[in-house]
Amino acid sequence: MTISFRFDPVSLPEAAKALRQEVRAFLRQEIARGGFVPGEGGFSREFSRKVGARGWIGMTWPKRYGGGERSQLERYVVVEEMLACGAPTRGFSTADRQSGPVLLRYGQEEVKEAIVPRIAKGELCFCIGLSEPNSGSDVFAASTRARKAAGGYRVNGRKIWTSNAHEADYMIALLRTSPATGENRRYGLSQFLVDMRAPGISIRPIINLLGRHDFNEVVFDDVFLPDSYLVGDLDMASKQATDELAFERSGPDRWIETFPALVELVRSAGENPDERLAEGIGRAVAQLMILRRMSISVAGMLEAGKTPMVEAALVKDLGTNFEQSLPDKVRLLAPPPQEDDPDANDNRFRAALRHATLIAPKLTIQGGTREVLRGIIARGLGLR
Ligand SMILES: Cc1cc2nc3c(=O)[nH]c(=O)nc-3n(C[C@H](O)[C@H](O)[C@H](O)COP(=O)(O)OP(=O)(O)OC[C@H]3O[C@@H](n4cnc5c(N)ncnc54)[C@H](O)[C@@H]3O)c2cc1C
Repeated sequence: MTISFRFDPVSLPEAAKALRQEVRAFLRQEIARGGFVPGEGGFSREFSRKVGARGWIGMTWPKRYGGGERSQLERYVVVEEMLACGAPTRGFSTADRQSGPVLLRYGQEEVKEAIVPRIAKGELCFCIGLSEPNSGSDVFAASTRARKAAGGYRVNGRKIWTSNAHEADYMIALLRTSPATGENRRYGLSQFLVDMRAPGISIRPIINLLGRHDFNEVVFDDVFLPDSYLVGDLDMASKQATDELAFERSGPDRWIETFPALVELVRSAGENPDERLAEGIGRAVAQLMILRRMSISVAGMLEAGKTPMVEAALVKDLGTNFEQSLPDKVRLLAPPPQEDDPDANDNRFRAALRHATLIAPKLTIQGGTREVLRGIIARGLGLR
């Protein structure tokens, strides 16, 4: 059996450690002034702009496009701190993680110059237009059509499950520009930048289990996209789209969503937990630390200019298993009181556990389902 992936141990540099303290101080300050409620996540343009002003969006991008030319490991620390405290990162996280890098790598110069520096300032929110009603795991079955027209393309069709579409300024969409061929079913797809305010776009909310409006159906009715909005080579976007998923799958956002439930468990356990509770917490924290090391290792590979598809898939699969099983483990170890309690700590514990329980089902679907990721891992192991 050929094993063609590896996780080299990577240590965070001193600069990243100092940065962690800086980010924590900023977050404490924002919480203290009522800028956001920790643990609630969400969307805030004001917060995005503040993070942009600190130079924490597009940290690794070239200075010429508003980036900071810092390392992936420093970026990792910023993302980890923001997510661990449940800061409102939805306004910039997609663009910082994947849309900005895609534009930098494949976008046309005039678009890069006009758009990327504004992402880095925290001014622009992006969404991802991959999934359609009849194409989810199999992204190459996308049928939303972009037909050539004078000076650009006309788009008709639908995208679905589009997170943040109702807040986003732009989408990076995978669209069909030609039919697939018999020899290559991945042929005929192109990536485009889409202005979400263009005439002909309508956005319909889909309400999730939490009762929140996070994702949407996006309908395109003869939407015009200028030629300059083509991202990369016409008809050849399948590799671009899969490369993008390496950015999407390996970061702390893939194992930290239910983490607040663990934090509240540790808080409620106090200084002297009994042996069973201490052991349960120890196991969960040990798993978390291993995931962190793997995720940092992937950040190190991105830093080295690699595209670690298989490693990223492994981190996402293990990470989502961990975070999906966490709410039940927490409930078994120390069930929080059921009724509303005057004790604010109990209420916080209950709220974190409720949130974790309700988001758990989606974790193994978003960003690639468990089965699809395991298929990628099996290929990496030379098993298929
Ligand atoms: C919270 C959330 C946010 C999302 N945000 C976005 C977004 O912003 N943009 C976007 O484009 N999409 C988004 N999605 C959609 C997501 O990417 C798709 O739901 C996902 O790719 C699965 O596609 P599907 O729902 O069509 O299921 P299907 O692909 O139909 O899969 C159904 C089942 O079949 C299994 N299956 C499919 N193919 C195989 C195979 N080859 N081998 C084995 N089993 C297989 C799957 O694992 C799954 O269990 C989001 C989803 C969620 C839950």
